[in-house]
Amino acid sequence: MKRDDFDILKEKVYGRELVYLDNAATTQKPRQVIDAMVYAYTHFNSNIHRGVHHLSQVATMKHEEARQRVADFINARSKDEIVFTKGTTDSLNMLAFSAGELLVKEGDEIVVSAMEHHSNIVPWQMMCERKGAKLRVIPLREDLTLDMAAYKEMLNEKTRLVSVAQVSNVLGIVNPVEEIVRAAHERGALVAIDAAQSAAHIRIDVQETDCDFMAFSAHKMYGPTGLGVLYGKREWLEKLPPAEGGGEMIEHVSFEKTTYNTLPYKFEAGTPDFIGSYVFGKALEYIENAGRDEIEAHEQELTAYAEERLREIAGMKIYAEGQRKAGVISFNIGDIHPYDTGMLLDRQGVAVRTGHHCAEPLITHLGVPGTVRLSVALYNNKEDIDKLIEALKRAVQIIQSA
Ligand code: PMP
Repeated sequence: MKRDDFDILKEKVYGRELVYLDNAATTQKPRQVIDAMVYAYTHFNSNIHRGVHHLSQVATMKHEEARQRVADFINARSKDEIVFTKGTTDSLNMLAFSAGELLVKEGDEIVVSAMEHHSNIVPWQMMCERKGAKLRVIPLREDLTLDMAAYKEMLNEKTRLVSVAQVSNVLGIVNPVEEIVRAAHERGALVAIDAAQSAAHIRIDVQETDCDFMAFSAHKMYGPTGLGVLYGKREWLEKLPPAEGGGEMIEHVSFEKTTYNTLPYKFEAGTPDFIGSYVFGKALEYIENAGRDEIEAHEQELTAYAEERLREIAGMKIYAEGQRKAGVISFNIGDIHPYDTGMLLDRQGVAVRTGHHCAEPLITHLGVPGTVRLSVALYNNKEDIDKLIEALKRAVQIIQSA
């Protein structure tokens, strides 16, 4: 599927053809996306929103068209609900700051889960410390899924906000976000969804999910680095104070009083990445042309195939085995250190990630030094999985004969 659009997949690593299975960290970019960046700098580079001249108007129009495309992609009610940020981490930090200022007082509670990425833990922890609030953690069940009964019991009149990943970047598990949102709303709490690992892999719909906020990164969606999105329901974005001050986010400034711009500009201080937004729009177009349902089905098939083939290896431990997953599988082999496995795979041209994957609390819960993680994208195929298995078998052989 679409493999020829990704020239980087033809690169050689240590003289072997690259097998790229580190897509949860970042995806590769198709030629259409790379070309879009050159096109933007060649044809309409000019700072947006302020200019009366032609180029500035074109750049502004392209930036706003991209915003509309993002809104359509996640089914937001309006493009005013789409704030461009630097990435998921930036979105979550902004949200934690602003929501903290508006909603949280001493003794209040914020809920995250035990499988979160550090960027969906630390900003909330920092905010809790500032506000004297308490961070509560949804525990995991034996099968590593969220303990939904414990979650529902945890919710109370002090709960202000719940923030969870739609898809775990370590386990690949797809969390029941609709159910999470429903339960939180019943108790009057807001919900933020970290969609960093879901946005390019499963269909996301903010109206159906009914989440209040959502964060994701363009670079994990075949788009450029340094750009992300914070979605927020209009009613909340209107109430939240801006996290950053500067140009663009203001209506009027005087030394006595500054008034803020309308949505979404209130949250976009300074020159935004208007080249990145245009390029991201092209990445979304690419995903849509490939077919979102087709991508999901393809990746489901690949992960199922990978789990099946991984089981051929003696001592294989697949985490959250058999759960519904979106493109990510973590495993370990016997007591082989994941770093050793990763290094030996790399030498054979296979790129996977090893370590704690920025989710140290989860790795501590698993009681291991880390995991080996493979993660697929639309351009991977069964041959990639076969090469991984072959390389893994060779790695085990080398380690066991050492
Ligand atoms: N949340 C999850 C679930 C992630 O996988 C990642 C990236 N590994 C992030 C947040 C942070 O994304 P970024 O580094 O693009 O800000």
